[in-house]
Amino acid sequence: MECLKQWVCDVCGQVIGSPKDGYVVWKKDGLNNTHFAYRIYHKVICDNDDSFNYSSSLEDFLGEAGLAKLLTMIDAGKMHQPLYREQISNIRDFLEFFRRVQLPYYEEARLYWQDAIDDDYFADGNELWTYLPQNLKALIKLYGAKST
Ligand SMILES: [Zn+2]
Repeated sequence: MECLKQWVCDVCGQVIGSPKDGYVVWKKDGLNNTHFAYRIYHKVICDNDDSFNYSSSLEDFLGEAGLAKLLTMIDAGKMHQPLYREQISNIRDFLEFFRRVQLPYYEEARLYWQDAIDDDYFADGNELWTYLPQNLKALIKLYGAKST
């Protein structure tokens, strides 16, 4: 898979070949006015679940502009929202999505994540080591070779 250019579709499990073919959907909790459940789909082909009431092009979350969008989703900042309020229902779920669209090698490494856990691959690494791009790249090299 091409790093930060291809993703695994959360509906069909097939590779989304380019950013323009991807689509992002998520939900909003009307009661708490917070967002949750981020999914990456094949545009048009797999995005037919009406329970997701927000959507955006996958391209909107990529690169520097995408980073700005993701940070604004966490907090719009003092100028636009003088009083801080939580906008994300579950920051861990949001960060999973954030890593998928911004952290080099993370999306492909996810394919081998459970195998790596089962092998205690992460046992000697701390919480930062686990997500460092060079370590994700090494994980892909190791487990990608095993699966072919
Ligand atoms: Zn799909």
